[in-house]
Order: sequence, then structure tokens, then C-alpha cells
Amino acid sequence: MAATVMIVEDEKKLRDFIRSYFEGEGITVLSAASGGEAITLTHSSQPDLVILDLGLPDVPGEEVLKELRRFTDIPILVLTAKTMDTDRIRGLELGADDYITKPFSPRELVLRSRAILRRTSVLGDNETRMSFGQGRLILDHARREVRADGRIVPLTPTEWGLLVALTSMPGRVYSRFELINRVRGYEFEGYERTIDSHVKNLRHKIERNARNPQIIETVLGGGYRLGLASDD
Ligand code: CA
Repeated sequence: MAATVMIVEDEKKLRDFIRSYFEGEGITVLSAASGGEAITLTHSSQPDLVILDLGLPDVPGEEVLKELRRFTDIPILVLTAKTMDTDRIRGLELGADDYITKPFSPRELVLRSRAILRRTSVLGDNETRMSFGQGRLILDHARREVRADGRIVPLTPTEWGLLVALTSMPGRVYSRFELINRVRGYEFEGYERTIDSHVKNLRHKIERNARNPQIIETVLGGGYRLGLASDD
């Protein structure tokens, strides 16, 4: 796999250890020791995956995550020493795609990273372009690109996965549990409500009015469904 991973970690020893492990797997590694460096480097080098430690000395990791999400949909895997579940969920709400709690095994980190890289690149292969609601929503699977009202909308891999699931059968109601399972490779540990945060973020990106959603409808007691009909 020709992939570039950026590691954001202030502890040099850990950073070098992760780097050597990834390089041993044939993955190119960029590294950043601070949040500021991470943001600059992501702008200039556009890695395929960012591994972000939340405990950074200059800018808190959460702020780095928010900042990165302002301009990129690069998958982000968060490293956290905090074991509180609320921290994990918060990381996901801010747009992380997965997280690993320290201490972790480098093997697990590489496996999870590979799963994310595979998911973000392989998802494009099966279908081509799908249009809904007279072109109001268009998914280009080959390019992994979404247009809402003609405008390209950058999505996180998780948001993309949710939209792919919902559009696979317009009108069908998907429970939160089903959606979790459809977003492949996602280690959820049963937090069904986390889906709600992702749906909320997604609505802000693609709906004309996120308070009155017409693309992703909530079905009381059921889950979510695509409110637009397929144009095909
Ligand atoms: Ca740290």
C-alpha cells in the first residue's frame, strides 16, 4: 500500500517508535511534534491518514482536530490517554474517525490504520454516480465525492459511510444499530447515540436547513432514512 501517514505526538520516543513500526510496514511517515506543526504539515503535504495524540503541549489535540476539519476530510485516528468514554465520544463528535487508548500495541495501531485506509480508498470501487431528489444530492462513488445542491461537500469517512448506507435504499428506515454496522471497520463499542452526532454534522453540511432536514429524515423510535427518491 502506497500510503502516507502523519503522526502527531510530542513524545519523541513514542513518535520515533511508531514511525519505525509504520516504515517497517512500507508506509511513508511524516511526523509533527506539536499541533501547530501538524496543521501546517497537513496543509502542505496532504497525508492519507493523521494519527493525532490528544495530549499536545501547544494546542490541545481537540483544537487541532477541529482546525483540521475546517479544511480537510483526511481520516483522523485519535490517540488518547484519557479513558473516559465521554472523551472518546467527544473526539468522534469533533470529526475523528477512530480512536485508540494509550497504552496500545503498535500492531493494533497499524491494523486500525490499515482498516481506515482501506475503507477510505476501497469504498469508491463498486458503483459510480448516484443522483437523488432531481439532482439535489449526488454521490460520486469513484471519486468519493458528494454534491448537495450542486456544491461539493467535504465529508469525513464516517459521514460518507453513513450516506452510502442511507442512499443504498432510499426510503428504507435504518436503525442506529444497523448504521453502526454499515459504517465498516468502525469500532463502536455500542455507543448507538454517537450516530446522532455524526448525522447532526452531516445534516449541517448537506441540508438546506439542518433544523428541518429533508435529505436525512429522523423516524421516531426507528432511526434514519433518506428522504429523497432516486433519480435513476
Ligand atoms: Ca502527548
